Amino acid sequence: MTLFFGGRAQIIEEHATVKIKSPSKSYPLPKVIRLINNFKQLNYVKFTRENVFYRDNFTCAYCGQKFVKSELTMDHIVPKSRGGATDWLNIISSCAPCNNKKADRTPIEAAMPMLFKAYEPSAISMMIKKFSKKSQQAGFSHWFFEVG
Ligand SMILES: [Zn+2]
Repeated sequence: MTLFFGGRAQIIEEHATVKIKSPSKSYPLPKVIRLINNFKQLNYVKFTRENVFYRDNFTCAYCGQKFVKSELTMDHIVPKSRGGATDWLNIISSCAPCNNKKADRTPIEAAMPMLFKAYEPSAISMMIKKFSKKSQQAGFSHWFFEVG
């Protein structure tokens, strides 16, 4: 017998003797469960302005300086006017002066090499970045990062 939990998991192996009882039925206790959602979906990070800045550590890709959220912009690496997409791979954090200087050009055309690459972040890397930034703001960073 195979049971599905809302289509999300499948029981691969059941316990031979232990049962789970509901008021009307009893089921064998699952021993091995396989998640049907693939890892990509579980690992999905929503594409937002704030998440782009977290991915890039609030750093401008062109001058390498750190900024607060209100001072950063989302730069299209390949300009939007040339069909550049608004997604993880074509958006990079840039301060307003660098973004203005680069204007409607690619980094190569503008002779403004990117100091780091655009990439789609994993959910776990974003959780760590957000957690470490929030704990730094709260003054708890020494608990986590200055051990030893
Ligand atoms: Zn800059």
